[in-house]
This record gives sequence, C-alpha cells and structure tokens, in this order.
Amino acid sequence: MVVVGAGLAGLQCAQSLRDRGLTTVVLEAGDAPGGRVRTDVVDGFRCDRGFQLLNPAYPALRRHVDLGALDLGIFGRGVVVAQDDGSSIVADPLRHPWLLGRTLRSGYVRPLELGRLLAWLAPALGSVPRLLAGPDRSRAESLAAAGVSGRLGLEVLEPFLTGVLAEDDGSSSATFVRLLLRSFVRATPGVPGLGMQALPDQLARGLDLRLRTRVTEIRGPGEVRSEVGSHRAGAVVVATDPVSAAELAPIAATPMKGLRTWWFTTGQGLTDPTFLRVDGHRAGPVVNSAVLSAVAPSYAPVGRHLVQATTLLPSDSTEADVRRHLERLWSVATGDWDLVTVHDVAHALPRQPAPAEVRRPVNLGGGLFVAGDHRDTGSIQGALVSGARAARAVAASLGSRR
Ligand SMILES: Cc1cc2nc3c(=O)[nH]c(=O)nc-3n(C[C@H](O)[C@H](O)[C@H](O)COP(=O)(O)OP(=O)(O)OC[C@H]3O[C@@H](n4cnc5c(N)ncnc54)[C@H](O)[C@@H]3O)c2cc1C
Repeated sequence: MVVVGAGLAGLQCAQSLRDRGLTTVVLEAGDAPGGRVRTDVVDGFRCDRGFQLLNPAYPALRRHVDLGALDLGIFGRGVVVAQDDGSSIVADPLRHPWLLGRTLRSGYVRPLELGRLLAWLAPALGSVPRLLAGPDRSRAESLAAAGVSGRLGLEVLEPFLTGVLAEDDGSSSATFVRLLLRSFVRATPGVPGLGMQALPDQLARGLDLRLRTRVTEIRGPGEVRSEVGSHRAGAVVVATDPVSAAELAPIAATPMKGLRTWWFTTGQGLTDPTFLRVDGHRAGPVVNSAVLSAVAPSYAPVGRHLVQATTLLPSDSTEADVRRHLERLWSVATGDWDLVTVHDVAHALPRQPAPAEVRRPVNLGGGLFVAGDHRDTGSIQGALVSGARAARAVAASLGSRR
C-alpha cells in the first residue's frame, strides 16, 4: 500500500493498515512527519507551527494514541476576557473553586443567558449519531435563534469560537461547533510537554516513512510518481492536505481558512497565565493569546515565558498592531517583548459550513482512496478518524477483490 502524506490522517491510516498486516509505505513531501502539526525549536523556544490545542476528550486520540506518553500540560478551564477597563475571568468553579467569586463578579454568568446557552449545547452532550442526523444551520443563526445574544454570547463565546474555528463570519456549521464544544465540556485541552510534534512523532513510530518525497502524479491503477521515483501498490491513499488532494485525486477542492501565530518571549510574569485570553470587544487583530510555557515549561528556557498571539489570515495587521493589542489583552507593556518567530498557515482549517458533512466518501474506486480532515471534521479528531476509516475501506476493498 502507498499512503501519500504523513499528516495525522496519513500516519493513522498507515498504522491501521500495518495493524492489518498490510505492507505500507508513506511518502511525505516534508522533512518530518506531522503536516499541519509540527513544532520548530527556535533559540530554545518550542513554537508549534500555528498555536493549537490537543483535547484529550477526542475519542480517536483515546483510541489510537498513548496520551500518557505525551505528558500533556493542561490549560486553565475557562477564559480571561479583556474589556476596555481591564479583564475578567470566567472559569469552571469545579476545577478552580477559588475563582468562583471573580467569575461571578465578571458579569458574564447571568442565569437566563447561561440557561439558553446550556439548552443550545444540550444536543452535543447526548448521542453523536442523533446530533449528526439533526437539522443544521450556521452557528450565527443557530445561536441567535436560541437567544444566546447577550454579553456571554457576544463577549465570551463569540471571541472564543473565532479563534477555535478560524472564522469571524459565523458561517461554520452549528453541528460542527456543538461537536467541538462537546470535547471542551468533556475535557480541558493542553499541549504535549515537548510540543505538538510529539503527537505525529508517536504515530510515525514503526512506519516505513520516506521523507522529502513529493508525489507528483497518481496514475491508475496503483502507480505513484514522485520527485524521487515511482512506486506500485495494490491501493493508494491520498492523505495530503485538501488543496494538494484535489490536485492528485478527482475530488472537489475544499475552501480553507488561514491563521497567523506570533510567538513572543518576555521575562515578565503575567497574571492568570494558564488561561486562554480573548478580547470581549475585538479591539484589535489578535483572536486569542496564551502563555504556552505556563502550561508546558519546556516551551521556554528557564526564566523566560513564551506567549502566542493568533490572528486570522488574510490580514494586514503589523507587528505594532499585534503588540498594541497584546497590551490590552495582558494589561502590561509589550514594547520590550522579543519576537521569536511568526508562523503563517494560509490553509489551516477546511471551511465547515452548514449542513455539516462529516463522513465524506474515502473510496474513490480503482484502488484509489482519500483521507484527511476534509473528509470528516477539520480537527485532529477528524484527521485521525478519516485515516482509520480509509484504512478500513482499503482492507474491505482488498477483501472483496480477493
Ligand atoms: C494553526 C492551526 C491550528 C489548529 N488548531 C487546532 C486545534 O486546536 N485543535 C484541532 O483539533 N485541530 C486544530 N487544527 C487542525 C489540525 O491540525 C488538522 O485538522 C490536522 O492536523 C490535519 O491533518 P491531515 O493529516 O488531514 O492533513 P495535513 O496535516 O495537512 O497532512 C498532509 C500531509 O501531506 C503532505 N503532502 C502534501 N502534498 C504532498 C505530496 N504531493 N506528496 C507527498 N506529501 C504531500 C504534507 O506535507 C503533509 O505532511 C489546527 C491547524 C492549524 C494549521
């Protein structure tokens, strides 16, 4: 078997094929496994290629990954919301009982709107098949119809979702958003102690992985041409990013959303550093900010803190705009913060409009298969699920051919 692409989907697909006793080669264009989940070490700082979170509630992570070995550093369960006159915290009182008073004083926890939000979320907490079978519309329409349009909705949920979904037009499917929030209700996300790269590194173990091998053409049936030669296989799984997949296989192109992550370092201690920060009024380009070294100390050398600031792409914001907005978010001067690096990921996440299509076909016929987050959901969970699903489809087709 040949799997094209060593992102999470390709790696999981190859592992599942290997578990079935099928000889599998993974061809990857890049210089390491991971795809959109990579970590650069810059001057001793671990900068993930785009700030992202690992949610231990993702069922596919629990099924396929040794989470204990990743030594997750876990964020605070809540968010700090910047406003014109300072900031407020909204934190889970069960995990952070000492923050209950501050959470109540934030003014965001009003029974009526909280009740409406919980009622809107309720379908996410039951059966997933029932949720997927239910009606769907854009998150903006769905939340407005549910009456989640007060300060909690507009100043806490909306900025939080903008960062998580990489969109600020409210167009994402409400079903997809409920699926994501289901994971946030069930567990608090974190990052591996040694950076996000630890996840693909673990999934790549034991695989026949050929790096720096860009596939240029797939000739049916089963002939794969790359920049370094050609391979023949009983089945080929295209597990590239959605844009490359549409070039290699007869599938429609998936529109993508972009993110830019600015990585800064400071020696200055920051308040509530384990909590994600958002701006309740979106008074600048940063959609969220977090101190990675506060949740996973190996992200920064001793005595330094590593702060990420994420903005949406496309963007014309300058470094000065970002620093100014960070001053508002953290209530400190940022002029002496050093910029470590900036990551632009123009194709970070597939658009997921309503109605959600979470089980797109993976068997294209003639021994050609496709895997990737664009087949399921635009997430780590979606990528892993699609990889396992493609492997099952390959095994089933080989069985039926025999
Ligand atoms: C900045 C950012 C933040 C994110 N935040 C989160 C988050 O908080 N939570 C979450 O769940 N998800 C998040 N995601 C999404 C998640 O990372 C992706 O959904 C997932 O990693 C996609 O994996 P994949 O295997 O489908 O695709 P990819 O990771 O894109 O892997 C495709 C692989 O194919 C290779 N390839 C492409 N073309 C070729 C070719 N011609 N020949 C050989 N190889 C090729 C690529 O080099 C790549 O390694 C985020 C993504 C980004 C970028």
